[in-house]
Amino acid sequence: MADSFVTNSNILHRSFKARPERVVRASGVSLFLESGKVILDGSAGPAVSCIGQGRPEIAEAIARQVNQIAYVYSGARFTCDAAEDLASLLLKDRPGGLSKAIFVNSGSEATDAAIKLATQYWSEKGQGQKKYIIARKQSYHGNTIGALCVSGHEERRTIYSDWMSNNVTFVDPCYSYRLQGRNESTDAYVQRLADELEKEILRLGPENVSSFIAETVSGTTTGCVAAEPGYFKAVRELCDKYDILLILDEIMCGMGKTGTMHAWEQEGISGPDIQTIGKALGGGFVPLSGVLLREHIFEALAAGSGGLIHGHTFQAHPTACAAAIAVQEIIKKEKLLENVTAMGKKLGIMLEEELGPLDVVGDVRGRGLFWSVEFMRDKHDKMPFEPGSGFCNKVVARALELGLNILGNLGRTGQVHVEHVMVCPPYI
Ligand code: PLP
Repeated sequence: MADSFVTNSNILHRSFKARPERVVRASGVSLFLESGKVILDGSAGPAVSCIGQGRPEIAEAIARQVNQIAYVYSGARFTCDAAEDLASLLLKDRPGGLSKAIFVNSGSEATDAAIKLATQYWSEKGQGQKKYIIARKQSYHGNTIGALCVSGHEERRTIYSDWMSNNVTFVDPCYSYRLQGRNESTDAYVQRLADELEKEILRLGPENVSSFIAETVSGTTTGCVAAEPGYFKAVRELCDKYDILLILDEIMCGMGKTGTMHAWEQEGISGPDIQTIGKALGGGFVPLSGVLLREHIFEALAAGSGGLIHGHTFQAHPTACAAAIAVQEIIKKEKLLENVTAMGKKLGIMLEEELGPLDVVGDVRGRGLFWSVEFMRDKHDKMPFEPGSGFCNKVVARALELGLNILGNLGRTGQVHVEHVMVCPPYI
């Protein structure tokens, strides 16, 4: 085997050419490498470590929980305080009418659970033909086969194309930097997107459409693109008009990253019917994600089969839930959402001032502490780098040399090739 393919890790990585550096300790916003180098974690991993690392309160909460109950199978006969308390904490005051929770291990599992929940909902209501999910062309909802089916991330889907569902169709996302016409007003652009979605609903037949799924603020594929004003209002109205569930994926953008607990709170809508959460929920101390749902969905299942046709061995894991409670309590006690808003403004200004003028920087955008810098080969003509140019990877590698970890993403999603880096540091 060629030397360049010999990795120093027995764990399979995205590239076998990579020689991942070993992290031996982490504290606050710093990662300490075996080589002695210290890295500033400018993206909190992939937007995960929201309160930084090395917090003794979380270690204590985990230890307390393990000593009390390490594990119960929450899928059937049992529940426990940790899971119930986490649900109560998240659902206090029923944000957006969300009143029940499912806890799973990863964001992809949360997407799968959301898809299944929507499917079961329509089936219980005697409308099992409502099976189409409309998703967005540039989108990422996870890596399991189910989650990939609703993800417009071509690079991650292509070799699994035989496994992809025919029940999913795609419309354009709200991505004004690349997809809004030069002379098109924001209102006209939002209306065009709403018209496209409505046309797709009518093409499939509203009686056949289960849900529309979108990231409230996009993450991996296009990079921290918040919707234009009015977009989600129009989407919510269409979902209501045609009796379609709105699923908002806030696995990456939610749990405080944009300055509000839920990103949709800034969209002037009453909320989604189903919402997925993850990453900052457990802040990286534990693997934990979840699905929040509105009462009417619970009621339909309760009046129908009387249960959830879904579950995992480790769902609502007590230790994970106990850690997440401690993470969320720190966010509240230390008023970290206020810090996200204040520091986010500063970060945005710095990124715009320092990087915006560079020839290769097309767009700087974000909300709260969730920012992205999109690169262009020619920013004046909006000519993106060619797929395979490796530009984004070079930026990420150079940043790492300089001691900064940021998240680089590139992908051909639909006809749009995007190269961007995400700067989404811990809320501290
Ligand atoms: N949804 C969104 C918006 C994401 O950004 C991700 C991961 O980056 C996922 C779902 C999948 O989450 P996980 O990697 O925890 O399975």
